[in-house]
Amino acid sequence: MSCIFCKIIRREIPGKIIYESDNVLAFPDINAQAPVHFLIVPKKHYSQLGEIPEAELDVLREMLSAARQLAAEQGIQERGYRLAMNVNPEGGQSVFHVHLHLLGGTPMGPSLTG
Ligand code: AMP
Ligand code: ZN
Repeated sequence: MSCIFCKIIRREIPGKIIYESDNVLAFPDINAQAPVHFLIVPKKHYSQLGEIPEAELDVLREMLSAARQLAAEQGIQERGYRLAMNVNPEGGQSVFHVHLHLLGGTPMGPSLTG
């Protein structure tokens, strides 16, 4: 699988893995858009949200668990943060391996669309 996130998961690309559980991994976004910008990914490759079989949706729970744990570690749980998942081209997805953005450390603003 040539997917860039699969390569990070297989440790073929040196990256700073900041969180790991049975089915989930997190690492910093290479092009951070905020003081805190992590990507939380399932270890199993799904190209986009719609590709996760209904029976495997528990992985999203594990991703959310990672997100709030990381937010707490970063000290932004109380101040607040944003979780975003871009789905397919019109959703702004550019890497086709499901991922959740955790953004924070500065006010995110009211707009979802910039
Ligand atoms: P999206 O536009 O939602 O698909 O987000 C993809 C994100 O992956 C972007 O924010 C990129 O900066 C990030 N990204 C791409 N390649 C890497 C990489 N090798 N390591 C970490 N983040 C990456
Ligand atoms: Zn992948």
